[in-house]
Amino acid sequence: MFHSSVAIMLCASFAAATGESPFVVALDPGHGGSNRGAPTARPDLYEKHLTLEIARLVQRRLLGEPGLKIVLCRTGDILVPIRARTRCANQAGARLFVSIHANAASAEEGPGSQRGFEIFVLPASDVDQEVARAALLADDDTQAAWDAHRARTTAVDSLAAARRIRWRLSDALGADRDRGIKQAGATLDVLQGLDMPAVLVEVGFLDHAEEGPFLLSDRGKKTVANALAGAITDLRSRELRGQRDPLTTAPPGQRPGPAAGRAARVSGARP
Ligand SMILES: [Zn+2]
Repeated sequence: MFHSSVAIMLCASFAAATGESPFVVALDPGHGGSNRGAPTARPDLYEKHLTLEIARLVQRRLLGEPGLKIVLCRTGDILVPIRARTRCANQAGARLFVSIHANAASAEEGPGSQRGFEIFVLPASDVDQEVARAALLADDDTQAAWDAHRARTTAVDSLAAARRIRWRLSDALGADRDRGIKQAGATLDVLQGLDMPAVLVEVGFLDHAEEGPFLLSDRGKKTVANALAGAITDLRSRELRGQRDPLTTAPPGQRPGPAAGRAARVSGARP
């Protein structure tokens, strides 16, 4: 049964989403400080440097874009705890959270043997946990119904955001670099406890002989950053038009990634 109070709150939410308030996006540059992430061919350069540079490029690219505000949840080479990253996004009132990472092949796969980008969203079991947690914390049944509804629609929106980012990265980097959208194979702690749709993007493999140097080059960083910025403006436009989960159409010629559904390696400890 659809509670009338929930309907009223839904309308209020929709009005807020389509009103004058800026579309705030929280970018989370993975790792930082002593948590260096995946290594590169250069001893002084790690994943943590690349993720911050890409986030800054996205922010710069979208500076002055009407109705958009980009918040960085790590602004320097410092260790930021996972909960501080989620708090940053929640307190900023973000409507989208994008955690940026880069990969390295596991020992079993063989160093340098993998390439391509992949995007993670929380698995359904984690979403169910969030729904149960919200129900426990709610003051009454109406609030519980609203919180459960919001948790489930946020999961749907996360998938829509992942599809849009996949589309843009595939367009920019090539469909043969597309490893798909996944819900397992990486540590996704940073996507938990967020009030908004959230994705984690692994932009490519730093240990691959071609992809690693490309990602670290100015052209590579700009290519990835422009694709992420494009996806953000797409999602902002879709929200303005009040569309829900409209991003399900794969681009022409796109095929599922070669490793879609396969467990991915973890590029060092999160965050
Ligand atoms: Zn990482």
